[in-house]
Amino acid sequence: MPFTFANIDNRACLVLGDNFYDLNRVSQDTIGSDPMSALSDIDALRQVSSALTNNEPDGSLSDAKLGAPVPKPRNSFGVGLNYKDHAEESKMDLPESPVIFSKFPSCIAGPFDDVELRATSGDYEAELVVVIGRITRDVIAEDAWEHVAGVTAGQDISDRRLQLGARPPQFGLGKSRDTYGPTGPLLVSPDSFANVDDLQLTCEINGDRRQDARTSSLIFNVPYLVSYLSEVMTLVPGDLIFTGTPSGVGMPDKRFLVAGDVITTTVEGVGTMVNICR
Ligand code: ZN
Repeated sequence: MPFTFANIDNRACLVLGDNFYDLNRVSQDTIGSDPMSALSDIDALRQVSSALTNNEPDGSLSDAKLGAPVPKPRNSFGVGLNYKDHAEESKMDLPESPVIFSKFPSCIAGPFDDVELRATSGDYEAELVVVIGRITRDVIAEDAWEHVAGVTAGQDISDRRLQLGARPPQFGLGKSRDTYGPTGPLLVSPDSFANVDDLQLTCEINGDRRQDARTSSLIFNVPYLVSYLSEVMTLVPGDLIFTGTPSGVGMPDKRFLVAGDVITTTVEGVGTMVNICR
């Protein structure tokens, strides 16, 4: 049974249309209210989701304050140069194996939170973000989607000077300033989509469309990435994978983010995040 999950006022909720349902209430206290704890059992989420319409909703999504669907992931991975056209605009060779870096979990922010620029070299990167849903070790690519709770939208905001100023470059710090990881607005289970490997991803800055791609053009697709990572380390529910950004980032033309910029990020079937730079 597909489900759509949200973090509303730091409580785990399921979403149906414009209605949301408090998971702890509709599960009769069998699922915890904390989003991280609720995400640890996706079978329970699916079960509650299948009988959701037997309940009265707790409110309307349009009035709700949405937080990051996974507010405190244990691990948060980024993937560098995972779209051909972005590798080209970055003047880098195509990777032969995934380029993985740590986007430290402390940078995770909500879908409508401000991005606090701390430098003049901040750049946007719209991405599909994958949320692990099971303890996952050595999964083969064919089975990988079974281990994913869902997908959401993300911004891999990057401080290019911090990222590329060191020799060799240090992605970890450059991608991890406080608030540089907006995610959301909803976490949507893979079986909700006709083809979860082919979703449109767009990014606008002040209404100007800078990025527009489909996730079917990822060099290393989601099943490959989950399988690849799970061979190195055990993945746990809530671990995030920022799967990489397509072309159109600000760096090639030095169009860096400035205070007041409005970043609008959309993933088809997931929704739209709006983050304002301060
Ligand atoms: Zn990225």
